[in-house]
Amino acid sequence: MSEKMTSRLAGFYKLPIPERVEQIGRMLRLSPEELSFMQGVQALPPEIANQMIENAVGTFSLPLGLGLNLQVNGRDYLVPMAVEEPSVIAAVSFAAKIVREAGGFTAEADDSMMIGQVQVTHYGDPTEASQKIAAAKDQILALANSFHPQLVNRGGGAKDIEVRVLPAPEGPRGEPLVIVHVLVDTQEAMGANLINTMAEGIAPFIEQVTGGKVYLRILSNLADRRLARAWCRIPVPLLADFNLSGQEIAEGIAQASRFARADPYRAATHNKGVMNGVDAVAIATGQDWRAIEAGAHAFACREGQYRPLSNWYLEDGFLIGHLELPLALGLVGGPIKIHPGVQLSLKILRVSSVRELAMIIAAIGLAQNFAALRALGSVGIQQGHMALHARCVAVTAGARGASVEKIANLMVKAGHVKVDKAREFLAALAEEEDAATGTG
Ligand code: NDP
Repeated sequence: MSEKMTSRLAGFYKLPIPERVEQIGRMLRLSPEELSFMQGVQALPPEIANQMIENAVGTFSLPLGLGLNLQVNGRDYLVPMAVEEPSVIAAVSFAAKIVREAGGFTAEADDSMMIGQVQVTHYGDPTEASQKIAAAKDQILALANSFHPQLVNRGGGAKDIEVRVLPAPEGPRGEPLVIVHVLVDTQEAMGANLINTMAEGIAPFIEQVTGGKVYLRILSNLADRRLARAWCRIPVPLLADFNLSGQEIAEGIAQASRFARADPYRAATHNKGVMNGVDAVAIATGQDWRAIEAGAHAFACREGQYRPLSNWYLEDGFLIGHLELPLALGLVGGPIKIHPGVQLSLKILRVSSVRELAMIIAAIGLAQNFAALRALGSVGIQQGHMALHARCVAVTAGARGASVEKIANLMVKAGHVKVDKAREFLAALAEEEDAATGTG
């Protein structure tokens, strides 16, 4: 029997993996094949890997976990996250729980408008070249769309042309750059391939119109016409923790946000925290996460200084958080339809459009950032992080099964989470066990 869909799964973290999988399977009506793929029993078939990349020799696994408690625009989402770093999923689930109690996240996403760039060189006069391109706009758009008629039938396609004249990087003696932007609505696709086809297709015509020469023609990963935004508004008393008042915690978060706005050294780490969540969902859902990363960091520099993607402040007794970033995502294209793990992740997420996926990922990025700032602005992150990291250290030192948790706890208690310490505890544990069984 199926259960009511909720992302609020109390005690989920305490269950053994098979019970977690069974619960998710019941709730989402997953097939036995999907369940065995989820647990890593079945891997990506080598013949599919071989279709995806060159020189394939096999596949490579990452842990897949579920971000819990997320509510965006009033809807619950269980969020598949593929990530190697401990504490990311615990932190995002904890943050989403607090925000859920405050009414959940609100999010929105732009249409899938991407930019294709065509660089014109040796054009003569830049103003004249720009005017010629602008005058040929309708023909350029029609030509671009002729390469993707199906996209146009779906309501997408090339929609507009912009011409930018940029100062020469060599200074006033160099030739200014004439760059044509073709704005393309890529609908449910990330769009890189289809835009590149259009950009390469229109280049000869642009050469003809301007008398210039085109070298570069490719999409821009600064997808700033395709932004996603998420907000949350948390009553300050809800933040009280670590023997600190809500006001103190909120003040710590707001101060951390000011720090990141003023200082690129801090902003880089602030944004890394945002991308912890964004990338983990992007990987699980088959997105081009290098494209997302490149777009996010370029967008963070839009004011001429690298800045945080999110902002936190206090207003009328609430802590307000806001995140905005470009998200060029796809529900078709690339590996999305051929990778069974990606299909499974999308089924768990229950998304029906690429804009909905962008809203979820924006909310996850904001939740991740909230969790990090909440700890950083109060007790620091090491206490929580080291407790989770200790398990990895214990495994590295050779612990297996129940002894992993034991060794991890001993290291945390001793305040010394290192492989040599874990080995010491392991040896002591082995001696104790030998003594108890009368061996050794
Ligand atoms: P694909 O070309 O693989 O797929 C997109 C195609 O899917 C469209 O052209 C369209 O073809 C078809 N399609 C079917 N249904 C829809 C729909 N509802 N909406 C939109 N398209 C639909 O992928 P992309 O063009 O999205 O390119 C993404 C890939 O490009 C990623 O794998 C990325 O890694 C890679 N890439 C990235 C680069 C970068 O970021 N710099 C550079 C080069 C490649 P049709 O209209 O004919 O049906």
